[in-house]
Amino acid sequence: MTKLHTAPKPVALSITDGRAFPVRRIYCVGRNYADHVAEMGGNPKTSAPLFFTKSRETVVAHGAVIPYPTLTENLHYEGELVVALGQDNEIFGYGCGLDMTRRDLQAAAKAGGKAWDMSKNFDHSAPIGTLTPASKIDLTDGEIETRLNGKTVQHAPLSHMIWSVENIIKSLSSFVTLAPGDIILTGTPAGVGPVQPGDKISVSITGLESLNVSYATSTP
Ligand code: MN
Repeated sequence: MTKLHTAPKPVALSITDGRAFPVRRIYCVGRNYADHVAEMGGNPKTSAPLFFTKSRETVVAHGAVIPYPTLTENLHYEGELVVALGQDNEIFGYGCGLDMTRRDLQAAAKAGGKAWDMSKNFDHSAPIGTLTPASKIDLTDGEIETRLNGKTVQHAPLSHMIWSVENIIKSLSSFVTLAPGDIILTGTPAGVGPVQPGDKISVSITGLESLNVSYATSTP
């Protein structure tokens, strides 16, 4: 059969052992750290974590210079632990990621009872670093730290997650069939904030490869 256009390019993450991890679906958890729920004006006691998705084409690799997105005057970083799934819902590996967010569009969507998609699932909105196989790392006492232009802006123990990684996978798998290649951004701690053209962002998690990206100096 003749194809109308070139098939979309596959998307893959790098792994510390040199292999590649082909990406299937990207799931994200919202409201998974109480102090972030509070900073967004929510009540951690009554708020439950939630799921949303990004397209795999939004993935950006470590070291990228990212074009500044259109239609926002309040682009935010959200540093997050990324979980990569293998066979049978098992965790293949972990990485550092960013859930980039057009906060102004998200606020408008929330206020209007509308979908979040255009605030979350936009071009280059999922920078994700090199994966470390789960067999090589113990995240029990792990901490996540986000730096903006070298200054620490987010810093929290991973144990502060409301839903643990195991609970996220259990809950998510009741909504959808998970498969090898699926990745989950597990939510962000407090300290989210705006990103300007030219800014550099880094996310570090104990024992994992750091993620460093920067934004282009020109705006659309
Ligand atoms: Mn997030």
